[in-house]
Amino acid sequence: MTDTNPEILDMIGIGFGPSNLALAIALKERNTSLSTLFLDSKPAFAWHPDMMIPGADMQVSFLKDLVSLRDPCSGFSFLNYLQHKGRLSRFINRKTFFPSREEFNDYLAWAAAQFTNCRYDSRVTKVVPVMLGQRVTHLALETKDRAGTTTRHFARNLVLAPGGAPYWPDTFDAVHGNDRVIHACDYLSHVQPLLKPDQRIAVIGAGQSAAEIFADLSERAEQPQVDMILRARAIRPSDDTPFVNEVFDPDQTNRFHALHADERAAALRNLAATNYAVTDADLIAQIYDMLYEQDVRGHNRLALRSETKVFGAEARGDQIALRLSGPNGQHIETYDMVVLATGYRRALGGSVLANLSRWQTASTPRRDYRLPMSEGFDPAIFVQGYSEPTHGLSDTLLSVLALRSDEIAQSLGELATSSAMAAE
Ligand SMILES: Cc1cc2nc3c(=O)[nH]c(=O)nc-3n(C[C@H](O)[C@H](O)[C@H](O)COP(=O)(O)OP(=O)(O)OC[C@H]3O[C@@H](n4cnc5c(N)ncnc54)[C@H](O)[C@@H]3O)c2cc1C
Repeated sequence: MTDTNPEILDMIGIGFGPSNLALAIALKERNTSLSTLFLDSKPAFAWHPDMMIPGADMQVSFLKDLVSLRDPCSGFSFLNYLQHKGRLSRFINRKTFFPSREEFNDYLAWAAAQFTNCRYDSRVTKVVPVMLGQRVTHLALETKDRAGTTTRHFARNLVLAPGGAPYWPDTFDAVHGNDRVIHACDYLSHVQPLLKPDQRIAVIGAGQSAAEIFADLSERAEQPQVDMILRARAIRPSDDTPFVNEVFDPDQTNRFHALHADERAAALRNLAATNYAVTDADLIAQIYDMLYEQDVRGHNRLALRSETKVFGAEARGDQIALRLSGPNGQHIETYDMVVLATGYRRALGGSVLANLSRWQTASTPRRDYRLPMSEGFDPAIFVQGYSEPTHGLSDTLLSVLALRSDEIAQSLGELATSSAMAAE
């Protein structure tokens, strides 16, 4: 164990994805003099690298970048990025609000490269309280790099933004760890080495990732036979019509937070079709055309198995057998590879904060994104992307980044001011 930085920093951010990158920018633009560090497990900045499927576009306007909804004049805007890259005029000529995912990742990496207070290849493995008598005065964070070296850092405050954990349904427990069953979060890097001509592949799910992977596999030179397996009757379109889209406006956070718990739950259920188990309408049309053209040619390489539930999975030699229940009853199908496009889960219990749970007084963050902790626990812990039940659907998305990060930056600044005054 090396204590590379025995200094107690004002704030450490866990994760350096878009959420904490937006926070780094907000802190910089507020000219705070806080000592800060961001820790990320990846070897370099990358936004969902295994889903950089060629041709995939952003699902929000480029104006929902890291800053513009707070300050359209910020130097960290997507437009300023385009200007720096010499593509502003050509981007305008494309007449779109939706850059490719690859270009948005390049924008985020461009912004991230302007910060030296991020340490990559640093997976935070645990956070432990540092006590003075009965008080928790600050926190120790342990990180591990790919070589297995453990390092410790100390912070007065934390901002947790590690994104979601890939969801692996119980049905697939028996094949967890089998390299022929991969989650969408590992898709691009894992699929290529496994692909061989004429394989059978199952894609499980009905959302955007499942549809993108199904379309991508259908175009691969290896010509795999691909089944997209979904419980629903059809792939459903995501609703991004203007009135509905207003739920993602940053000023909706206050409104949503003020609702009663039952009303919030009902609102999330009502609006699930904006984000969950839905697919962009143009991709749905592309898949429909693909299946139609295949039919014209008399081929049957690609299939949509709707109203089909997977109720068991097991390894059989080099294959994976799936127990399916569909319109024609129950049967078993074997595949060379299974891709789980089953989404992500966000839960604080079981996260790197597990050692702090005895001080946590409520399971949900406050309106200011701070976790409620008991008397005697001095550090402030803010969370980004873990407040959907209380703050609304945009919490896990890009729409609120510019403003949420600024609210947290402001709170961090106020905390530093009050502890400096207390020390005088
Ligand atoms: C394929 C895909 C496409 C998407 N497209 C859109 C879109 O178009 N529009 C939209 O609004 N939303 C989109 N989303 C939703 C997505 O959640 C947000 O875009 C965004 O990534 C959230 O940022 P984040 O920083 O909170 O989380 P993440 O982007 O997941 O970043 C979390 C970071 O934390 C790091 N990390 C995790 N655990 C640790 C640890 N223990 N120690 C150190 N580092 C850690 C990870 O390496 C990662 O870099 C998409 C999601 C996916 C999966």
